[in-house]
Amino acid sequence: MKALLMGPPGAGKGTQAEMLVSHFAIPHISTGDMFRAAIKNGTEMGLQAKAYMDAGQLVPDEVTIGIVRDRLSQEDCQKGFLLDGFPRTTPQADALEKTLQELNMQLDAVVDIQVSRDKLVDRLTGRRICRNCGATYHVIFNPPSQEGACNKCGGELYQRSDDSKETAENRLDVYNKQTAPLIEYYEAKGLFHKINGEQEMQEVFQDIVKVLGRES
Ligand SMILES: [Zn+2]
Repeated sequence: MKALLMGPPGAGKGTQAEMLVSHFAIPHISTGDMFRAAIKNGTEMGLQAKAYMDAGQLVPDEVTIGIVRDRLSQEDCQKGFLLDGFPRTTPQADALEKTLQELNMQLDAVVDIQVSRDKLVDRLTGRRICRNCGATYHVIFNPPSQEGACNKCGGELYQRSDDSKETAENRLDVYNKQTAPLIEYYEAKGLFHKINGEQEMQEVFQDIVKVLGRES
């Protein structure tokens, strides 16, 4: 089962990815992990990526796809894999397609976890931190017993500026702008499946498993 998992910030993609790789016993190919491994192992592509990152520059697509290719060539990916966080743009999707062809592979399915914008903003802005002891809460997923107060020490809870509505809206705008064309790209190839991400975590998981079971 060779699949790509997509979803905006706040959609719960990370949790679903963990459950899926465990269920299907396939490697989780996330860009962050691949970069860290390539740099740690000192591969040619890893060293190139590190040079850009050390200089505070964006890693160009050719280096990223090189790292993806190195990873997909490894033995454990031959039976299947779950790509997460790559590709993000249509040029990257084209590069991935070319790489997969060269490796004699193809994607079976692209799964997109969809959640309404209002709900994503609520999720992304829900974190609260205790000023006194640093304990973290989430107004939806892990609310304190008493609004605005820490369960452990009674301290005042505050919202970090990273978790502001403006930052959340910005992240979602950037994601939508980059990623919306990918939906059409994979729809045109007949690979695209949308999943209702507003259900309980287990229901979302079951829906994805159903799609992937059918397509692989
Ligand atoms: Zn506290």
